[in-house]
Amino acid sequence: MINIVLFGKPGAGKGTQAEFLKTKYNLKHISTGDLFRYHKSNNTELGQLAQSYSDKGYLVPDDVTIKMLQDEVERNPDTNGFLFDGFPRTIAQAEALDAFLESKSWSVTATVALEANDEILVARLLERGKTSGRADDQDEALIRKRYQEYNEKTAPLADYYKQQQKFYEVDGIGSVEEVTERLSLVIDKFN
Ligand code: ADP
Repeated sequence: MINIVLFGKPGAGKGTQAEFLKTKYNLKHISTGDLFRYHKSNNTELGQLAQSYSDKGYLVPDDVTIKMLQDEVERNPDTNGFLFDGFPRTIAQAEALDAFLESKSWSVTATVALEANDEILVARLLERGKTSGRADDQDEALIRKRYQEYNEKTAPLADYYKQQQKFYEVDGIGSVEEVTERLSLVIDKFN
């Protein structure tokens, strides 16, 4: 099993890179953002709950997110490993992920952070908002609110994974192919 956590602010390129990496390494891509949006478009109870938070730029509560993530892992028992995208976002979620993987005798192999500065990311998200239809990509104030949430709740995870010697930083600026190459250099260490 190779379990990779793709780490980085909204717009850093996690979803874009996951599309290439999942094929290259035969991994199942789990994006919690996509899962939330799936539940939302199907108007499930979970979707309505998640939306009430994400519409305001807040993270969805940990217990809701963890449950959804576990269900998705359980649905894919035969994979080579997982690419976690957008999860974990808090220390509590990281601890829950470690405990859950351990219950299956698995673990997080590496956390790879895509680095880019906020001004580039805001521009990317506003661009994505033109085609994604995502309300949270179309409002600059809301995007900056998401970065504030990230800095407060998600950035501390870097230390959590550094302590486990599982944290790798990759420059997220450059062509999509260049960034895939940089990520591959890290993943190849474990493949
Ligand atoms: P995330 O999943 O981290 O929120 P995405 O993969 O959706 O980010 O990328 C956010 C936006 O940035 C998308 O519109 C995408 O096309 C664009 N993007 C992704 N990677 C790059 C890159 N290397 N250079 C320029 N734009 C990029």
